[in-house]
Amino acid sequence: MPTRTAVLDVPNPRLLAFFSLDELKARAEQIWGVEIDAVAYPLYTISGCTFETPIARLSHWVEETNGSSLPDVADWCKKNSVGLVLTCNLDFAFLNSDLCHIVFARGSTANHACIFSKATHTLFAMLLDGALKAVADRGVEVEGIALSVVDLWGMSGRRGTVETSCYCRECRRSLVESGVDLDYLMFADPSPFRLMLADRNSGVYHESGFDEHVSPDVIIALSERGGLLADEVLKDTTDQVRLKEVQKLRSAATHLIKYIHARRKITLDGLQRLSDAVRAKGVQCFASAQIFDYDWNCGIFSTDLFNTGLFDEVWHAPQNKVDLPSEPPGRIYMVMRGNYYIYALFTRMEIYHDRDHRERTGQDDDGAAAARVIEASRSLQAAQCTPAAVHVQRQMDPSTPLVISAVDSDLIHMLIEDYRVLADRATEHIRAAQAASAGLSEMLRRMMGGGATE
Ligand SMILES: [Zn+2]
Repeated sequence: MPTRTAVLDVPNPRLLAFFSLDELKARAEQIWGVEIDAVAYPLYTISGCTFETPIARLSHWVEETNGSSLPDVADWCKKNSVGLVLTCNLDFAFLNSDLCHIVFARGSTANHACIFSKATHTLFAMLLDGALKAVADRGVEVEGIALSVVDLWGMSGRRGTVETSCYCRECRRSLVESGVDLDYLMFADPSPFRLMLADRNSGVYHESGFDEHVSPDVIIALSERGGLLADEVLKDTTDQVRLKEVQKLRSAATHLIKYIHARRKITLDGLQRLSDAVRAKGVQCFASAQIFDYDWNCGIFSTDLFNTGLFDEVWHAPQNKVDLPSEPPGRIYMVMRGNYYIYALFTRMEIYHDRDHRERTGQDDDGAAAARVIEASRSLQAAQCTPAAVHVQRQMDPSTPLVISAVDSDLIHMLIEDYRVLADRATEHIRAAQAASAGLSEMLRRMMGGGATE
């Protein structure tokens, strides 16, 4: 007998342009042999909110797609006696303002909110108020809000080293209060972050296999093993030199550990305020996350998702890497890193279709934008858990509830094909334009008496 334990995650209004909620529900129930008892739906997309609010425009996708507003989805939930969960990525990208943005060590910002900032908490409370009212008007009560606890503190690679965030006014103040030597942390050469982080071709590489009791010597050992700073410094040294270098590395590692604890405090304080705002409304607070021992992108240890009382449920991919407490309950999310890859894909799609945004951000090139959608689709495809992994986990523990992603492999495949055509067409167009322009330059050079350059 099917158990009522499954949430259907509809990550973006755009999906409803391809399938109705009836179709998505029927498809998920058929594949997984469960009854869908709730639908998860986003509070916003990068262009705006999924409901009418004075604080932001309506999402571009909601405008374009019939029946895709949050109140429409609430109506459907009521009609079908299905619960409603709201999902919230914590970048608040639609705000597009340095009021909330994270700040990198060198002072640059990214279109991603700092969850420690008072402005972010104010924005979140306003958003939550508006969404709950919009849904209550349709006679529906929201069961929970799932906060995306992934990639909270963006990192960027730069000539082999990694820039960390956030160093906004509020974060800096808290880091200093926790005893962090900010000048050393931000400007020391070599940077203590190089012990654990590196910019490599495949992106930012990080060592994460340590817990909250990590010592400077463990940091050095991990760094050496991972081919990071300690390996560079200690490789081929004599015993005497090694001793001296280890002393220096130990000092850097001590600073780094102090930072890790200070960042963890900032993150947990920020999440606490968000969780408090949700629970003050009588709504449960969930987290969708990735289980890393230590998560450099989030500034917390995976056990913090469970031991802090912040969340009523934790959504994560099937895994047995870490011994997870049974409370609060886990829920199998079918994609690695929570909604990170799903959100990236729909963000890329939205940017492709929103020429205003592309002009503003200097990405106004059809071919390149379509290619980015394809790239994001492929990453999502690679990040999806196989049905086998989900079945094995459910076989071992039949009571494990599910979050079924409505974006399945077939849909991703369809998107890749769609955008490949667009990308090819645009690339051909660009190549033709480049050839024409090269021909013109050559002709001009000849007219001015110069010869061919090649
Ligand atoms: Zn900050």
